Amino acid sequence: MNDAYKEKQTLEQTSRYDLHMHSTSSDGMNTPTELVRLAAERGLAGLALTDHDTAAGVAEAADEAKRLGLDFVPGVEISTRSGGKDIHMLGYGFDPADVTFMERLTGLRSVRDQRNDRILERLRELGVEITLEEVQERSGRPLKPGESVGRPHMADVLVRKGYAVDLRDAFDKYLAEGAAAYVSPPRISPREAAHWIREAGGVPVLAHPGLYGDDDLVRAVLDDAKPSGIEVRHPDHGAEDEVRYRKLADEYGLLTSAGSDYHGVRQGKVFHGELGAYTVGSAEVEALRRATLR
Ligand code: MN
Ligand code: MN
Ligand code: MN
Repeated sequence: MNDAYKEKQTLEQTSRYDLHMHSTSSDGMNTPTELVRLAAERGLAGLALTDHDTAAGVAEAADEAKRLGLDFVPGVEISTRSGGKDIHMLGYGFDPADVTFMERLTGLRSVRDQRNDRILERLRELGVEITLEEVQERSGRPLKPGESVGRPHMADVLVRKGYAVDLRDAFDKYLAEGAAAYVSPPRISPREAAHWIREAGGVPVLAHPGLYGDDDLVRAVLDDAKPSGIEVRHPDHGAEDEVRYRKLADEYGLLTSAGSDYHGVRQGKVFHGELGAYTVGSAEVEALRRATLR
């Protein structure tokens, strides 16, 4: 290996960003501080925290990133509904102090809490006895204002109480879309989520298009919601998905992003990807930042 190659590699490594991960503020296992430390240990230049329907962990992550000299991008992942599917819209670079946006996210979380209650009800009807208290305990620390539990916490309790052999089994049997205890809550549209993110000064990016299994729907969402970007690299995307969505990004003139969707280690397994395993370079991050100024 020659020196020029080594230098290039080092440069590439020091400018890597993981733009998709979850903390204890939603359904991740690590606190925002721990995620920033992990990102630093793995040699990332920066990261975005993208909890489900909340920016409650953003301030803590920003503080730790500042302390460790990492670049931090405020993020969120909003759950929406379109074409009979759950569609996730990522938002980057918004103002975390935007009162209207934070109130809108609070509204989404109350919908999530109602959904959780209805899933637990359905589970009880199926003879599966788990309580909200047990589920909340699995978040690993007392919930702070703005934090919420989700299906991974429920899956964890289902495994612990012997109702499923592992997390995959818990989702397949009970929690996945179409499974016995699945409840689809009323959701906003991708278009509304994109509008909210823009109003707060942020950039909307369509999350993991490969997960929807329907590229006609992906195109319909791009046409209607008009996000600024699309997530092309993600642990649930194969190599051919990535190629296809890069082409789609070219066709629609979209920014491209990537992230691990790291949720931490649960039941000894990394749920989604390993932090830092799916990254973009600083050029993509700069493009996202420029888009917030438009
Ligand atoms: Mn999640
Ligand atoms: Mn998602
Ligand atoms: Mn996610």
